[in-house]
Amino acid sequence: MAKKQVYFFGGGKAEGNAKMKNLLGGKGANLAEMANIGVPVPPGFTITTDVCTYYFQNKKACQAGLKVELQKALTKVEKLMGKKLGDPETPLLVSVRSGARRSMPGMMETVLNIGLTSKTIPGLIKQSGGNERFVYDSYRRLIMMYSDVVMEKAAGIEPADEEGIRKQLEKIMAQLKTQKGYKGDTDLTAGDLKTLCTSFKAKVKEVLNKDFPDDATEQIWGSICAVFDSWNGKRAVSYRKIEGIPDEWGTAVNVQTMVFGNMGEDSATGVAFTRNPGNGENNFYGEYLINAQGEDVVAGIRTPAPINESSKSEHNKNLVSLEKAMPKPYKELFAIQRRLEKHYKDMQDIEFTIEKGRLYMLQCRIGKRNGPAAVQMAMDMLKEKLIKKEEAVMRVTPSQLDELLHPIIDPTAEKGSKTLAKGLPAGPGGANGQIVFSAVDAVEWKKQGKKVVLVREETNPEDVEGMRAAQGILTARGGMTSHAALVARGWGKCCIVGCGAVHVDYAKKEVRVGDKMFKEGDWLTLNGTKGNVYEGQLPMIDASENKMLNDFLKVCDSIRKLGIRTNAETPDDAKKARQFGAEGIGLFRTEHMFYGKGSDEPLFILRKMIISKTVDERKKALEELFPYVKRDIKGTLEAMDGLPVVVRLLDPPLHEFVPRDPAKLEQLAKDLNITLDELAKRADNLHESNPMMGHRGVRLGITYPEVSAMQIRAIFEAAAELIKEGKKPYPEIMIPVVCDVKELTDQMTIARQIYKEVLAKYNLKKMKHMLGTMIEIPRAAIVADKIALEAEFFSYGTNDLTQMCFGFSRDDIGGFVPDYIKKNILPGDPFQSIDQEGVGELIKMGIQRGRKTRKDLEVGICGEHGGEPKSIDFCHRVGMDYVSCSPFRVPIARLAAAQAAISN
Ligand code: PEP
Ligand code: MG
Repeated sequence: MAKKQVYFFGGGKAEGNAKMKNLLGGKGANLAEMANIGVPVPPGFTITTDVCTYYFQNKKACQAGLKVELQKALTKVEKLMGKKLGDPETPLLVSVRSGARRSMPGMMETVLNIGLTSKTIPGLIKQSGGNERFVYDSYRRLIMMYSDVVMEKAAGIEPADEEGIRKQLEKIMAQLKTQKGYKGDTDLTAGDLKTLCTSFKAKVKEVLNKDFPDDATEQIWGSICAVFDSWNGKRAVSYRKIEGIPDEWGTAVNVQTMVFGNMGEDSATGVAFTRNPGNGENNFYGEYLINAQGEDVVAGIRTPAPINESSKSEHNKNLVSLEKAMPKPYKELFAIQRRLEKHYKDMQDIEFTIEKGRLYMLQCRIGKRNGPAAVQMAMDMLKEKLIKKEEAVMRVTPSQLDELLHPIIDPTAEKGSKTLAKGLPAGPGGANGQIVFSAVDAVEWKKQGKKVVLVREETNPEDVEGMRAAQGILTARGGMTSHAALVARGWGKCCIVGCGAVHVDYAKKEVRVGDKMFKEGDWLTLNGTKGNVYEGQLPMIDASENKMLNDFLKVCDSIRKLGIRTNAETPDDAKKARQFGAEGIGLFRTEHMFYGKGSDEPLFILRKMIISKTVDERKKALEELFPYVKRDIKGTLEAMDGLPVVVRLLDPPLHEFVPRDPAKLEQLAKDLNITLDELAKRADNLHESNPMMGHRGVRLGITYPEVSAMQIRAIFEAAAELIKEGKKPYPEIMIPVVCDVKELTDQMTIARQIYKEVLAKYNLKKMKHMLGTMIEIPRAAIVADKIALEAEFFSYGTNDLTQMCFGFSRDDIGGFVPDYIKKNILPGDPFQSIDQEGVGELIKMGIQRGRKTRKDLEVGICGEHGGEPKSIDFCHRVGMDYVSCSPFRVPIARLAAAQAAISN
């Protein structure tokens, strides 16, 4: 490690700045930035993320190499503070905290009050004006944290949760409180705390077989290593997997002078947001606790008070606000938060401590927010001219936008239901599910296809995977800034915290909510926007029209270059997609017309057609089928009037349509006037070994030209009728599963002939239309220049293209792709996000070659990837004209396309 390893900050300047997030982590970079702009920050230093990487290669060498720089930085801090680590007269106390490039709330470790030893305790008592209570309270916190984080976790000891050292120490403290008849921690006297510290140390020795370190230097090194180790802790690893944070990033470590919010009634600590992260309102919003340390606020043990009027809720409205309790530091805090927001041009999440009336900022970072809040803030800041429209578009992630499209409880049902309990609205939307009480059960039940609500006493970062698996989360304790709240909000999960009426009995797997008892498996419904809990399973509905969302999407539309179409087969879906902003249909799968229809009639006729043996038989069935096909296509062309509609000719292998139900088989045989035996024989003939690579797509049209002809005639006649009715239909006829231009020539000849016939029949001069193909077989991409001689448009069928490029059957990947991902052979499921390295190259080649022979070739995508943000970015970069996706993904595609235009 030749590079600089430690970056100092404090006294109005810093060696780092906000741009150095990769090296200093988010927290370290922002501490440096705050110091640089003159915000009061307790001095300290940041050990870089590079050191973390080195630490995991060689722990001993890393520590040895770090020593000199660390001592130098520490001396600077000591000079500024006029205190010294381990000094009996004027001891310096520090905190050691993690800080990765991207915030991972509560997933890694922190140790506070480092430097307290039998030697320094008297010095700190003197410094604090004889406040013994404060000193022993700080010491017992140090013992609790250090023994848990450094001596137990970092040492790799993994007891069951209940047997962990932290729980055991908490038990001792709870016993003492019960014994003395105390209600809260603040009732503990100096004498009590002193006794506790002695008992704590004895317990640590008994359980961990080691003395609690009584040396400040040993404590600081122990803590630094423990923070590094926590990067590879279980919960950090699972969080990274879910959030897609690379393992190699590592964490920085921040060592910072302690300031104390627990020095008495003129001290406090809190967490705040420069705007409301729950709904986006432009109000300073936060929570605080008097006479407490930061961990008390986030751990959710005491219910925090609101910092001001606009932070008041049902839950805390009777508690005194910071604005009232400490007007001077509040005023200062208010001014600093305004300054920080202006400086960073985004909502900040800040942590502060007031020590004996003096305000310190401990942290600031871009605040996490839910989807509705993200859209609101982006639009507000745009109006306030704080940011430009490109920035506003980049401020909302596709998954945040998704939250706005998520279900809420049906308002009528909600109105008629009695609120069982009220908590803090930590994550928006509605959720219903069966109650489970552990993260493990939540994951297990979800696997079984059940919907669950995870109910917990308190918020515990260990629960991330369970929280992810649950529809909603309900906790008894904690505030809006507790870990569960932050994590749930980050994911846009419905979540209620601090619901005091909830009492969980984990052993019995029961929960009392108010005066009602519920068992595991019972149903609850949550309204995470209001914080209301309801008994039973209330119905959900889609979030209604949202003006703010529409305005935001219009801003996206003004930036994006890609067109957005939808995959839809019914007039209803088409209309819905139009409301969502679709500019056409990119894929009308003809065969879907025959699925899920109330009347069986068209499906029955289709089956007749499939089973027919002679051309005459087939033609007769096709004639019967024709009016149905025309009617359905016409309905959708009409719903999309004026916009292009890509209608794809029949694609799937025919045997998919052969009925299995004996009654249906009998009816079919009867109608065709054949025996059941004969029917079975014909159906058997349709059977294929690899139907996905069998008689499907254009191959059907080659062997049964009359099948193509019927569909093409239906499309053109539907369009002609609409023209006669004064409409502007625009069909694009698409031939699937093509691998050679001659296949197209064959089909186009039929299409051109029918086009002429329909024009004559309806006495029309021309009809706006296009004839094109799907590119979904690798060979088609390779010979795209020739194919473009016939095709006026290409639409990439990336489902099949991925299947055939990888040789992975799209219907059978469940058996092996998860292992590929687990073993890092694949970065993710290539059927969800385009494999840019392989499939992507084929796409690029196809576009280049296609446009070589046809300059104005229209190119789109209609595989599932068309609604996936990373793939949309790819489509933008390779010069496609549009993407097409399912209706409810259209808004996300509009955003992703705008973001692609900005990023590229
Ligand atoms: C595709 O293959 O990507 C496609 C859109 O067609 P289908 O999924 O119907 O095979
Ligand atoms: Mg396909």
